[in-house]
Amino acid sequence: MRFLVSNDDGIFSPGLVALAGIASQFGEVVIFASENDNSAVGHAITIQRPLNYHRMPLGGLNAYRVNGTPADCVAMGLYFSGKVDLVLSGINLGSNLGNDIWHSGTVAAAKQAVLLGFPAIAFSMVTNGETLNFEKQTPYIIEIIRTLSTGERPRLVNVNFPPEPRGILWTHQSIRAYNGIVIESQDPMGTRNIWFSAVPLSAPDENSDCWAVDHSFVSLTPLSLNRTDVTWLKKMR
Ligand code: MN
Repeated sequence: MRFLVSNDDGIFSPGLVALAGIASQFGEVVIFASENDNSAVGHAITIQRPLNYHRMPLGGLNAYRVNGTPADCVAMGLYFSGKVDLVLSGINLGSNLGNDIWHSGTVAAAKQAVLLGFPAIAFSMVTNGETLNFEKQTPYIIEIIRTLSTGERPRLVNVNFPPEPRGILWTHQSIRAYNGIVIESQDPMGTRNIWFSAVPLSAPDENSDCWAVDHSFVSLTPLSLNRTDVTWLKKMR
């Protein structure tokens, strides 16, 4: 099997190296990832300046750094590395649940692969400030790659890990309204800084991605690329 591995935290993220290492057990791995942290850039692509990529040493892995977004990295990686069986994105340091999916570069990298005709999985994990360790996630990642690399399967799957996983749950994306609060602060130069702090206004619904991770399940959400509201389309027609 051949894999393209990317992420949005950047090529130096321990999550990327961990995922590429696990994929190496299944076959050949090529990494195309951003030189910088591109978290929350969503599905942005670079069209205002030229892109390039450079080979770089990364623990014996076949890795290339790109001066672009996660979606750029996957498009470039698929173009220059040839046919792959599966595209993997992550492991993102931080979850990508519910409304995070709109903003996530991790999910966008996987989406980009599907748009170009390749199946893809996005991996993200809750980080709780403790020393990073992928030991508890590794057996699940192996199982998920095994399940989603053969036979009939969803083309795009968003995976999220709780800190202490106790099983796998197939889930739907949680859609909740947020409070939209901004937090202001002042830096030492007296400049006013504004930060988004989105807190959901309700509890997640049962069997949603947020609910699963809250209940210590590994959440697997099959995502579609079609955002059409079919119910309303029928009504309006
Ligand atoms: Mn990230």
